[in-house]
Amino acid sequence: MINGLTMDDYPLSLTAVVERAERFHNTAKVVSRRPDGSVDRTTLGACAIRARRLASALAELGVGDGDRVATLLWNQAEHLELYFAVPAMGAVVHTLNPRLHPDELAFIVEDAQDRVIVVDESLLEVFESFRHTHQFEHVISITREGPTPDGMLDFESLIDAAEPMVWPTLDERRAAAMCYTSGTTGRPKGVVYSHRALVLHSLTAALPDALGVSARDTLLPVVPMFHANAWGLPYAAALLGAGLVLPGSRLDSASVLDLLADEQVTMTAGVPTVWMAMLDALDAEPQRWDLSRLDRLIVGGAAVPRSMLEGYDRHGLTVVQAWGMTETAPLGAVSRLPADLEESGTDERYKFRARQGVAMPFVDIRARNDSGDFIEWNDREMGELEVRGPWVAAEYHNGKGADSFTPDGWFRTGDIVRIDHRGCIWICDRAKDMVKSGGEWISSVDLENHLMAHPAVAEAAVIAVPDARWGERPLAVIALRDGAATDPDQLREHLGTEFARWQLPERFEFVTAIPRTATGKFKKITLREQFSAADRP
Ligand code: ADP
Repeated sequence: MINGLTMDDYPLSLTAVVERAERFHNTAKVVSRRPDGSVDRTTLGACAIRARRLASALAELGVGDGDRVATLLWNQAEHLELYFAVPAMGAVVHTLNPRLHPDELAFIVEDAQDRVIVVDESLLEVFESFRHTHQFEHVISITREGPTPDGMLDFESLIDAAEPMVWPTLDERRAAAMCYTSGTTGRPKGVVYSHRALVLHSLTAALPDALGVSARDTLLPVVPMFHANAWGLPYAAALLGAGLVLPGSRLDSASVLDLLADEQVTMTAGVPTVWMAMLDALDAEPQRWDLSRLDRLIVGGAAVPRSMLEGYDRHGLTVVQAWGMTETAPLGAVSRLPADLEESGTDERYKFRARQGVAMPFVDIRARNDSGDFIEWNDREMGELEVRGPWVAAEYHNGKGADSFTPDGWFRTGDIVRIDHRGCIWICDRAKDMVKSGGEWISSVDLENHLMAHPAVAEAAVIAVPDARWGERPLAVIALRDGAATDPDQLREHLGTEFARWQLPERFEFVTAIPRTATGKFKKITLREQFSAADRP
């Protein structure tokens, strides 16, 4: 029948992903590192089987269609089981970031109306800091040592006592998961992911020019499972049969490098601050770890400085930059060198790789300038990036933040970009971080990236500070490498090779470490509070 339903209307639900893990991937390993450094081993198939029992247990506790089940967990196998069980039973898995302030967690669990929460024993204290603010119907603890805390149910006992659930057939547009934005501007806002969004995201994330995931891979998400679905890696692994190495709570460089080597990881992923520290560890002891199986490090969530690309290249390790947001599930663009640039000069290649890349298939992009006109893709004009696509939010939970969506349904990212003729995105800044000096924009990201290429600089963050004459001026906050020394004049000279004089910061503040957000990025809000009001030199 032409123009009718000629093909099977197969629902794109995560149930298919979980069933695939169960049927086909029962040898793909899932390794969880515990707080004491020991590792537990299981498989994708075994997790999927346990997910059926877990789902029955949750249903017996009263979890029904669309109910939110919160998780306060690290990257660990039990979290994966909840990633499988909760969406497949028709409920919504809501991952909580334990590094948020208790007031924020209290706000989030109330806003999401979480009914049940699953807490790892290592996070009981965090849980106690906000539990009194919201009436959870049940609290389930994952306890490896000692008795289950009073008033809580034991995760393992619940699974042991339950029968496997026969998965219901689900509409692909139903909610499967939810996650909150970090709330850097105002209160956190909830993003609800549909089954269809997560299935299509997993499929495209696995494409060779995206993250390139196959059954021959072993993935180690350093990015937490509570941050934007660990960038989709758990579901991509389940779909394709890649092994998963889940590092738990300890993310210090040496212990992550140990895991990468011991478990023969082929791909890992996380925010730049993690990889900056890791690079220092590798530089200090280049022979200590055998990383010959490690094929790529996916780095995103903040701009990847060129110095990091070069630094890892020195160790024969490839960094691939990705751009995304909680609102885009999260992958929006991946920076892969186009074939015709493979033979180009070193400088040109690094310049390209330091950009955020071309949009994933099905993610549409456009950008608008201050006057509301769409910019040309000519690598010069700047504007705010707008996106739409099957895994891009169409609204926030409870109708918040409606002004982030255009009347024709595109999501306004708040990122100021240039776009080149290939469609490659180049993030100049977050709109709120741009420095507007004498009516001209200065990119804090560009200054930071170049500062971090200075041998004495470990970390650099640039903020705008009010200025009577120019409106705003850039101020650079610098954390030096151990034992290194430099001064503002040298740093200005270093920047002077790439930037015009009026773009150079007058003020430099030296700190021991730059404060981090709950997702591990530089926390510019704190820096602004600390330095904006300070006396000018
Ligand atoms: P938050 O940073 O507020 O915790 P998200 O994790 O959703 O929330 O972050 C999304 C933002 O991170 C993007 O809007 C963008 O500004 C920034 N970002 C993500 N990836 C990159 C990248 N590769 N380069 C530069 N900025 C990035």
